[in-house]
Amino acid sequence: MSIKDILNKDNLDRNNLIKLMKIDNDKDLQLLFNKAYEVKLKYIGKRVYYRGLVEFSNICIKNCKYCGIRRENDKVERFAMSKDDILESAKWVYENGYASMALQSGERCDKEFIDFVEEILLDIKKMTNDGLGITLSVGEQNIETYEKWRRAGATRFLLRIESTNRELFEKIHPVDALHSFEKRLKALKDLRKAGYQVGTGVMIGLPGQTEEDLVDDIIFFKENDIDMIGMGPYILHNETPMGKEFKDTVISEKKRVELGLKMIAICRLYLKDINIAATTALQGLDPLGREKGVLAGANIIMPSATKTSERGKYQLYNGKPGINDDATVSKDTLEKNLKEIGESVIYGERGDSPHYFSRIENK
Ligand code: SAH
Ligand code: SF4
Repeated sequence: MSIKDILNKDNLDRNNLIKLMKIDNDKDLQLLFNKAYEVKLKYIGKRVYYRGLVEFSNICIKNCKYCGIRRENDKVERFAMSKDDILESAKWVYENGYASMALQSGERCDKEFIDFVEEILLDIKKMTNDGLGITLSVGEQNIETYEKWRRAGATRFLLRIESTNRELFEKIHPVDALHSFEKRLKALKDLRKAGYQVGTGVMIGLPGQTEEDLVDDIIFFKENDIDMIGMGPYILHNETPMGKEFKDTVISEKKRVELGLKMIAICRLYLKDINIAATTALQGLDPLGREKGVLAGANIIMPSATKTSERGKYQLYNGKPGINDDATVSKDTLEKNLKEIGESVIYGERGDSPHYFSRIENK
């Protein structure tokens, strides 16, 4: 079956998805992106929603082998933003009309951290009169903690499965109780039970990852009825075990960007009404990565609202873009680029996942 025929089918099967993932020429690639963009227009419109991203601490108890702020990297200067600084960033996000923000950090599960996050959530809610949709991305926690934060005002949670291929998952993480595949799966289920809009995602272009793996990731998103997806290319960090081991063998940046865009497009085709982010990592490998992501079907962008002084310390990978940019300047450049491709940034609306509402209605 030709790519064109596959793209005209209503229900795609695994083999169809693999064929799309393996597209190797520009003409078919463009057909795929165009079709995915059509689906985006149907379900979302020419709209992009922002989440102001505040990366509030790089202190982490984990040791993921790909990540620059892993516990054992003693070359990073650790920081944790104060409550006042986080609230100030939240205020900036709110006053600039983004109706949503994301709070991300390294993973901690001590009581002090849990209480701190709860307080921030309550304070932001109060300060903005419940005017901001808040996404948390602070790793695996037990269900009581997820519930506590949900009650305090977080409505969405992003926890990537990183790869649904268990063998690959175990290759990119230490194999121990702190980094268990089962625990990650359970956390995703608990988030669902705690009433969040649940987001997950994977890294793309990991050493040893196949196109079939990526297709199985997409099928996992569907089977688990995921509401939002945040995924992006894997990028080396030189102070990590993977950054050292794979620096000469990782697939090219161009290929990783292409695969990243294919993932967005195929997710849009297959999952239709979910929120899909065009992530900073995509921009990290291609200055126009996020705009290209939107044209391949993404509808969410997470511009940094982290204080410029702290951005450099939150480096999960080498060459993180926008480290020295002022939040206002980044915002204006991005908006201009989006306007050029005919997309409008929607201010004042939270831009929740349409899928979340349809699954709640169908319950
Ligand atoms: N500690 C939390 C949130 C911060 S990490 C957590 O792990 O969930 C957020 C995401 O950054 C991770 O899920 C991972 O997919 C991504 N990431 C980490 N290192 C990366 C790298 N070297 N290249 C690309 N993405 C990376
Ligand atoms: Fe910590 Fe998240 Fe990085 Fe893993 S990916 S080391 S949990 S910040």
